[in-house]
Amino acid sequence: MKQTAEIGIPRALLFYTYYPFWHGFFDGLGIKVILSDKTTKKTMSEGSALVVSETCLPIKVYAGHILNLIEKGVKKIFVPSIQSIAPKIYNCSKIRGLPDIIRNVIKKDFEMIEATYDKSEKHKGLYDFLKETAAHFDINDMNIIKKAARNGQKVSNNCKLMTNMGVPYKKALELALENKVILPSEEKVYPVSVALIAHGYNLYDERISMRILDKLESMNVGVKTAVQLSEEQMKEGIISVGSKLYWANELEITGAAGHYILNNNLDGIITINAFGCGPDSLMIERIARFAKIKKKPFLNLSIDEQTGEAGFITRIEAFSDMLFRKKKLKTQLILQKENSVIQTDGPISSDIIAELNNSLK
Ligand code: SF4
Repeated sequence: MKQTAEIGIPRALLFYTYYPFWHGFFDGLGIKVILSDKTTKKTMSEGSALVVSETCLPIKVYAGHILNLIEKGVKKIFVPSIQSIAPKIYNCSKIRGLPDIIRNVIKKDFEMIEATYDKSEKHKGLYDFLKETAAHFDINDMNIIKKAARNGQKVSNNCKLMTNMGVPYKKALELALENKVILPSEEKVYPVSVALIAHGYNLYDERISMRILDKLESMNVGVKTAVQLSEEQMKEGIISVGSKLYWANELEITGAAGHYILNNNLDGIITINAFGCGPDSLMIERIARFAKIKKKPFLNLSIDEQTGEAGFITRIEAFSDMLFRKKKLKTQLILQKENSVIQTDGPISSDIIAELNNSLK
């Protein structure tokens, strides 16, 4: 289909959850998608300058991406208000009020496409949301809109299928947008593996996450994330932690953590949360307590625009060093269980030795 109309989509926040669907949907309507550029120092600093300093980093970054699209000359920018994704399951107030935040802080000339999706309200479901969006392009025929939605669903399902099967998120997204599905032939085995728990926008934005996935790979640490889990597995994870689903993104945080803490093949849990995020602070507190009960090594990294890469990496290195030593010692203990001699390459705390002995009883 010839694409004359254009829509700008900020490469931030819910982009990391819904972009495969949005891409397929707008493509199905014959609308060309213009993405903002990847996050840079400039995106962060310009976005941060617009909002109050207590605002979480992802919102600051989002504002920076809107500026980037305006700079590119994009006239219509998609800033949806995703209120609730299921009855009584809500997004945080900042995501819900995103169009209002942007309207108040960016006084520039552009048309904001701010359709509302709210599964807790009548007449705010998916088709109402898509109809409201398409109306900005004078597309009102529900047959065309539904067909485009099916196209979006197909791209989204393909992406999910690949990530569930272990294809890294970035690769899966790339392939799904090309309407391709390639499944991995075999999974690499790592000496140590961790679960990395964070919102997609904090994990897959390489500037925000400071390339933590690449860093862990270079340390030979395997990584599991929420995208490899089904919704059912994450719902069970929430129950394991003793929590209830309330926040829309609780599945990828509490749910994924609850699931992975109980997975004996994983050696530790790393969480990343944005400084100033209310929902995260509650969820991560519960995860930390559950990890402690289950004796799973746990590291939380809090991020804001001031976070320095050096300190961030040092903490990851120290944590993975501890996991490697712990794993090695555990292996030695299994081999030497009958005699009490424990050998290590370096100093190791009596707490860890006691914990390992307990875990082997
Ligand atoms: S969930 Fe937290 S980090 Fe994400 S937008 Fe809301 S307040 Fe910010």
